[in-house]
Amino acid sequence: MSTVSSPPARSARHRAGPRRSALPGTGRLWSAALLAVLCAGVGPVLFLWWQNTIPGSLNTGAACLTAAGRVAGLLAAYLILVLVALMARVPWLENRIGSDVVARYHRALGEYTVVLACAHAVLIITGYAWQGGRNPVTESVTVVFDYTDVWLSALALGLLLLVGVLSARAVRRRLSYETWYHVHLLVYLAAGLAFAHEFAVGADFSTSARNRLLWSGAHAAVAAAVLLFRIGLPLARSLRHRLRVTQVVAEGPGVLSLHLAGRNLDRLDARPGQFLRWRFLAAGHWWQSHPYSLSAAPGGDRLRITVKDLGDGSASLARLRPGTRVWFEGPYGTFTAHRGQRGRRVLLIAGGAGITPIRALYETLPGHGADVVLLYRASREQDLVLYRELAAIAARRGFGLHPLVGPRGDGGGDGRGGRDGQGRDPLGAEELRRVVPDLREREVFLCGPAGMADAARRGLLLAGVPARRIHTEAFEF
Ligand SMILES: Cc1cc2nc3c(=O)[nH]c(=O)nc-3n(C[C@H](O)[C@H](O)[C@H](O)COP(=O)(O)OP(=O)(O)OC[C@H]3O[C@@H](n4cnc5c(N)ncnc54)[C@H](O)[C@@H]3O)c2cc1C
Repeated sequence: MSTVSSPPARSARHRAGPRRSALPGTGRLWSAALLAVLCAGVGPVLFLWWQNTIPGSLNTGAACLTAAGRVAGLLAAYLILVLVALMARVPWLENRIGSDVVARYHRALGEYTVVLACAHAVLIITGYAWQGGRNPVTESVTVVFDYTDVWLSALALGLLLLVGVLSARAVRRRLSYETWYHVHLLVYLAAGLAFAHEFAVGADFSTSARNRLLWSGAHAAVAAAVLLFRIGLPLARSLRHRLRVTQVVAEGPGVLSLHLAGRNLDRLDARPGQFLRWRFLAAGHWWQSHPYSLSAAPGGDRLRITVKDLGDGSASLARLRPGTRVWFEGPYGTFTAHRGQRGRRVLLIAGGAGITPIRALYETLPGHGADVVLLYRASREQDLVLYRELAAIAARRGFGLHPLVGPRGDGGGDGRGGRDGQGRDPLGAEELRRVVPDLREREVFLCGPAGMADAARRGLLLAGVPARRIHTEAFEF
């Protein structure tokens, strides 16, 4: 028997995209493993410095400052390489650890990189000035203008600083995604300039052919990964599968589905819950790509995505015509049934555009009857997009389906889960336990706007669901 409660109509449309919370389950292990590998890389970098430091040479304050500057420079150079590698879209990283987690590492390490690069410049210049008994400001002008390649490294530092400032949350919020993204590509230029600087003046490389070989090898491997996974693989897949838009279907206020068809799509091995980055080859669209999750299980040579108009790019998809060619990257993502423990019952919680991957999971999760329960949060009844399809799946398989309709939370004591028709917080621990009495035994998959996802996560934890069983998908990186 399916459980379908009738949704009371309520107000206020929300536009915030779904977002992440803590990393659950096996993803945590992979993430810890990645962190261990990144930390392990610091060892050889410090060894490089140690190997090229003459015993007894750190005998003055100036020498110590210069040495600290060299260490900071080497670590910054290593982190630049790591930052680029993390964004190479290596399928293993994207599908084991998750794009959102990889992006979070990239952001955190980016901050350290900028700080280390600045520390490198300041410490080296102050060390040289102290040693020569000169003013640090005069010294920095001399260093930048009298040594041919140092101005290139000053340019690299300037670019890193620019990208760092534009990535600060307060600034980034004011920029369009595309502006931020394209300025961000300057990191590749900064990485190239920094590499040239290291070989030209870095004592650790200019005197050792072996070090130069190893360092060049590491850079070549990362460059190859970027070219292969960001350009080669997507190009080859797009050409091979020849995807086209077949239908554009309005699903509700500001929401549409794009039906796509191509060749040999089973070879993509896309799983329900995953997303791809889509590039539509039409005027005004081809230069940007956006991530959208599959909103139905891939079937034969057909795929479907469902898009909410959260900005200009998503809103303009309504103008696409059937026949439009589509290039894509992926599939990516860890928000799949594989994350849960096999045989365990499942609770799905969705809100807003977060229904898309949840809809695909609802259709394909194994089990019947109460094995799968879906709580679908929306502000108004008309925002419950794809509801008819969900009800049909519920009727066919006997799964639980509970629409939770009511205004969003206002932060005023309802945990931002909002209120339902009876004035209760539908995502509070008490209400969750009432609707799904065995929720502590279930794997939970959660995808929804920031406030709603946070409220649901809090409610679940308070209701006794272990954090490792709460699997979330972030709709922002
Ligand atoms: C893994 C993932 C899966 C997603 N699945 C869906 C889905 O199934 N249905 C749906 O409606 N939405 C989905 N989104 C959200 C969707 O990608 C954004 O709403 C869309 O890219 C906004 O673009 P815009 O030009 O309309 O809006 P803008 O006003 O440009 O941006 C709105 C927000 O989207 C972010 N954004 C914009 N472009 C990108 C981009 N290329 N990559 C990452 N973030 C971007 C911005 O940082 C901003 O937070 C998903 C996002 C992610 C990360």
